[in-house]
Amino acid sequence: MTSQDFITREDKFGAHNYHPLPVVLDRGEGVYVWDVEGKKYFDFLSAYSAVNQGHSHPKIVKALTDQASRLALTSRAFHNSSLGEFEEYITKYFGYDKVLPMNTGAEADETALKLCRKWGYEKKGIPENEAKIICCFNNFHGRTITIVSMSTDPDSYKGFGPYTPGFVKVPYNDITALEKELEDPNVAGFIVEPIQGEAGVYVPDDGYLKKAYDLCKSKNVLFMADEVQTGLARTGAKLACDHENVRPDVLILGKALSGGVYPVSVVLADDEVMLCIKPGEHGSTYGGNPIAAKVGIAALEVLKDEKLAENAEKMGEVFREGLHGIQSDRIELIRGKGLLNAIVIKPKEGKTAWDVCVALKENGLLAKPTHEHIIRFAPPLIINQQQIQESLDIIKKTIEALD
Ligand code: PLP
Repeated sequence: MTSQDFITREDKFGAHNYHPLPVVLDRGEGVYVWDVEGKKYFDFLSAYSAVNQGHSHPKIVKALTDQASRLALTSRAFHNSSLGEFEEYITKYFGYDKVLPMNTGAEADETALKLCRKWGYEKKGIPENEAKIICCFNNFHGRTITIVSMSTDPDSYKGFGPYTPGFVKVPYNDITALEKELEDPNVAGFIVEPIQGEAGVYVPDDGYLKKAYDLCKSKNVLFMADEVQTGLARTGAKLACDHENVRPDVLILGKALSGGVYPVSVVLADDEVMLCIKPGEHGSTYGGNPIAAKVGIAALEVLKDEKLAENAEKMGEVFREGLHGIQSDRIELIRGKGLLNAIVIKPKEGKTAWDVCVALKENGLLAKPTHEHIIRFAPPLIINQQQIQESLDIIKKTIEALD
């Protein structure tokens, strides 16, 4: 079968809820993926930052296969011999009292929202059903009805109403707007991405997270960081919040928590918050299963052992410097932190970010446009300097050829 055959079959039998680049991948290793015709590419999306540790990392794959052949799923109706080990490991790794494991990022966000409301009623004394949670314009926290109720992107929310009430939206990176909304005593929490990834890699001003955190503290409001995309070494620190020494009250992680081999997500918090949820009040059949537990430990060990945050920081500098060296008025803006970067493309002669991505693909590098004019560049964090240089050569050659 050719790539086109695979695409035609997906198109015929699959829902049309994505618009993928026309490439059919068949194999991955490290920073590379290969299509069904055997062509090799740099992966500069890393499955939206789930594959921070690189494709098919042997240690993570071994954890997965060893545990899968021993015990895969018990549900939480029973204890299992792996979950406690993961819980101890991850809570000590990030410095929280407790963890609540789920599967996808959206589920972890939902969990955080429920936890926040519960805390608001039980601990803060907000009258029943009056709790509010502040979120940001242009956020992306996933695709459930409640989560799209927070969205300001019509592609995400339009046609899916009625929406979940109880959210207040403020402009991102706007401390004054946040401060104003925090005056309401019924606000239980503030949920924020330390860098808005899906929106197009919007990096807030230095100090924004710290100021937002301090304001939340002064009003007895939970500061909840959605680090599903920014977390786990992507931005050059273990967590993006670490850049400002902010310790979120509620920390939401997913994606790279499995190195891309399995859906694993978590919410971390201290007892005062986490113990507001009692037995029977929240859960998931797969959440905290033995495979997820072993994979999660392996994925976190790899981040530490291979110093991926340090590498992301260093390679990110080299990469952005290289991008700035490309002489083209097609590039309007370059922004990012660590290895979460983006360029804003000026549409020229009818060519958009999509056309640039198709041309990059032809030249052996995969990236995906976000919001029409933005291309995100997020390779696996194991990338080395020579590979960064080769990637920059591809990007330069591609953009120059379009000019
Ligand atoms: N939160 C953030 C910040 C994300 O970037 C994403 C996905 O891109 C999600 C949540 C949703 O994660 P998932 O697709 O695993 O549900």
